[in-house]
Amino acid sequence: MTFQKKCFLSHPNAPKIFQIMVQNNTGKDQSHNKRHYCAYCQRSDFTNFAKHLIDMHSGPHGADEVNAFMSYPKKSKERDNRIAEIRIRGNHMINMATLQAEQGMFVAMRRPSPQADWKVSDYSPCPFCKVWVLRTLLTKHQKNCVVRNNKETTDKLPCINEHKLGLEADLVAGRIGLEPSDALKTNLFTTIQNDYVGIVAKKTL
Ligand SMILES: [Zn+2]
Ligand SMILES: [Zn+2]
Repeated sequence: MTFQKKCFLSHPNAPKIFQIMVQNNTGKDQSHNKRHYCAYCQRSDFTNFAKHLIDMHSGPHGADEVNAFMSYPKKSKERDNRIAEIRIRGNHMINMATLQAEQGMFVAMRRPSPQADWKVSDYSPCPFCKVWVLRTLLTKHQKNCVVRNNKETTDKLPCINEHKLGLEADLVAGRIGLEPSDALKTNLFTTIQNDYVGIVAKKTL
């Protein structure tokens, strides 16, 4: 038996943000989201994301990335990771829209257990793939990050330490505002060297 349950936050600033959770008694892994948001058509009313991409967004008028992942063997890690990159990007779009509207669906890498309390501020986006993970797991996630593990791009990405990772995640999440205080600006620019993170920070500021 499977049923969906919406978890409404009690957080006073975001009372209508929810994750869709699935409880079942099949013994299958319950930690992965089943609902996703498509970056190309902004829909989420499908259950098989890869099939949706192939059906709706492949072919000569489709998306290059979709045609690209279809060239990898089925069930290969490369193919799964390329699909995950697209899926994560769509989910990041819905998450940012939800945060801005302070209501709507929020998709994290792992759902909380149905009984657990959670709040959006528990989560941060990975600056590389943009998947939202528990802040406390952001550093650990880098090892499994689909963008960092993409053979075509991984050499170009810098290694960044835990402090910078958290800082850049906050920039991606919009938690560091467009008009930060002078103290924050000074702090940022003395902290951030002229590297990838620095470029992102300066652009955002
Ligand atoms: Zn779509
Ligand atoms: Zn990542």
